[in-house]
Amino acid sequence: MFAAEEHHHRAVPTRALVLSLAALAVPVVGAVAFPEVLGELGALLWLLALVPAFLLAYYRGWRGVATALALGMATLSLTQVAVILLDRQVPEILLGVVVAYLGISLGIGWVTELLHRERATVEDLALTDILTRLPNRRHARMALENEFGAAERGRLLSVVLFDLDDFKAYNDRYGHAAGDQALKAFGEILTQTTRRMNLSARFGGEEFLSILSGSDTEGAMVFAERVRDALRQYRLPHGPLTVSAGVAAYHPSMRSPDELLGAADHALYRAKSEGRNCVRAFGRPVDDVPGKEEGQDEGIKKEEPEGEYPRPPDEMGRSAPPTTLLPHKITQFGQGKRVLLVEDEPPVRTLISTYLNREGFHVTEVGDVRQAVKALAREFDVVITDIRLPDSSGNELVGVVKSRWPHTQVIVITGHRDAQIAAEALNAGADRYLFKPFGMPELQSHLSDALVRRSRSLRDRAERIQLDGEAKKRAEEAREAILKGARALVKAVEVRDPYTRGHSRRVGAYSLILAEHGGFDEEELDREALRLACELHDVGKIGIPDAILNKAAPLSANEFVEVKHHPKVGRSILEPLLGDDLVLSVTQWHHERWDGTGYPDGLAGDSIPLAARLVAVADTLDAMTSTRAYRPAVPWEDAVATIEELAGAQFDPEMVATFRKALPDLDDAFREAGRNGPTEDGRGSRENEWIDEPRVGGGRWATDHDGQGTHDERGES
Ligand code: GH3
Ligand code: MG
Ligand code: MG
Repeated sequence: MFAAEEHHHRAVPTRALVLSLAALAVPVVGAVAFPEVLGELGALLWLLALVPAFLLAYYRGWRGVATALALGMATLSLTQVAVILLDRQVPEILLGVVVAYLGISLGIGWVTELLHRERATVEDLALTDILTRLPNRRHARMALENEFGAAERGRLLSVVLFDLDDFKAYNDRYGHAAGDQALKAFGEILTQTTRRMNLSARFGGEEFLSILSGSDTEGAMVFAERVRDALRQYRLPHGPLTVSAGVAAYHPSMRSPDELLGAADHALYRAKSEGRNCVRAFGRPVDDVPGKEEGQDEGIKKEEPEGEYPRPPDEMGRSAPPTTLLPHKITQFGQGKRVLLVEDEPPVRTLISTYLNREGFHVTEVGDVRQAVKALAREFDVVITDIRLPDSSGNELVGVVKSRWPHTQVIVITGHRDAQIAAEALNAGADRYLFKPFGMPELQSHLSDALVRRSRSLRDRAERIQLDGEAKKRAEEAREAILKGARALVKAVEVRDPYTRGHSRRVGAYSLILAEHGGFDEEELDREALRLACELHDVGKIGIPDAILNKAAPLSANEFVEVKHHPKVGRSILEPLLGDDLVLSVTQWHHERWDGTGYPDGLAGDSIPLAARLVAVADTLDAMTSTRAYRPAVPWEDAVATIEELAGAQFDPEMVATFRKALPDLDDAFREAGRNGPTEDGRGSRENEWIDEPRVGGGRWATDHDGQGTHDERGES
């Protein structure tokens, strides 16, 4: 039968089969059951039997015709036998039907076959260049995709890009027809030179591509030279013609056929620029590709251009291809990368190191584990180690490498094709293994993978570090923004109440001095948090109405209630913003008293947090030594005496002891603040008042505007 038919018959749909059987059944039933009804005209029913012939011929070509004929004939014969057995009269028209049946079936089959062949030719043309009869670019492209896939699985692959030299001049001199003739001739040369398993195609106007599977660079260069030589010897009717060629071999660092083509393109460009009529191979000597610094794009899968090599064929060889089309790192494969080679057999070691050096690796060779461990004082990109070494197992070395340099890739070589040993190596932390004997392409592919893995793992780490850093930075920025807001609130309070100006800052200074003298370490009392706590402790006063805040006279009981809200208001402002326990507790409890009569919660003794007990002293000290609208500032010595008196009542006695020790420094700070007496504006802070609290025996310094009672039991005001 026809070769084309193999590809072109189609499956017969079930519907068509059912229809065929029904069409056959109608005349059969008619002939057997109702012969008298059938009569002369009824035999026309047999035309229905052409339906299966038509359908099968359509779907199956000649084979369908044969089947349809067989089916029809069988049915006719069986029907005839049945009719004779039943002793019915056989309609004479039956013979005519058989003839018509045969003729129409054969006709349909033939026409269908012609259509099939036509289609095959068209499809063939779509993959063939009309002038040279060589495969065209589409075909070459498809073949290249396939071969590239095979190369990735370990098969050798090279390509050669040919471009006829000065072909435009040839055309101009001898005419377009002569040019076409030359193209045809070159096509013939290529066809004759190319081995059956390979493929040569017309890639563009006067560009040709040969895809040589199973060939390395050397093989491809030999092929290209042979083609060049054949063209030189070919007697073209009009005049001689030469060709330039660029060779490139698949390399594990290539990620797409485009990169392979790009490499060949680049080599062709060199052949052209070095005088034409010659063959050049990519990467030999090492091409210095502009803009491809080491590490660039390492490990990052670049966007692969879709479809064809994204450079018009007639551009190939005319200019260097864009660096994006060139193979990744092919020129740097191994360059600068450090490999530690641990192998005790000198011939094997030399073989591997020779290869590695040629690929541009920086190789350190050692013969045993002891030396290897010594060498591992420095980081290597890849460690290649034999398992069987004179002093100990390579697996132990794997452990050393991975614990010291977790990103270093380890390739283990084993002499035995033993899965057990390989598994042990992997368990020890090796990244991959190679069985001896292995070829250099195999080692190359492992090395390339290892380098990609290493750069990926390094990049992941860098990203993690960067992410951590960024998160921290963002958190700090957020905190700064929050603090800025909180400070603005404190500032707003101070603006409304001129007497408190500088209060928070001074309380902070006193508190830090107390913290130093109390011998509290950072763990117990975080200085930074303490400073912040003092800065923000009065933020809740934002909730106290101006009328109360600025009232010159002592406050009424109701007004004092308002004032007493401020620690809790402060905490409720800060709580959603800051997680600082110390800041929150100071804000809430700096008005608690040791004897439990303070506010807002009436905490007593040790249940008042240390920082709050400390700030309470500092707060009161500044309150007393600040001038009020209704009383002058209490002299320093008196203020000190009052605080000492209130030890055990308002203040933690131990804190007062600390206060006593800290007095010289506190005094210095007080003077430094320039407030030896009244504040700068001649008035003291009015938030603080000395009130009499007869119930608990003895006066108290309220650091807020809690103005009921007298200002000073000793009659200061
Ligand atoms: P170079 O050595 O740098 O390759 O020079 P060149 O003249 O060969 O290169 P260029 O790309 O400038 O010219 C290619 C010429 O090939 C121009 C075009 O007319 C000719 N050409 C392309 N396709 C055909 C074809 O099918 N038939 C003929 N006769 N000429 C063609
Ligand atoms: Mg040319
Ligand atoms: Mg060209």
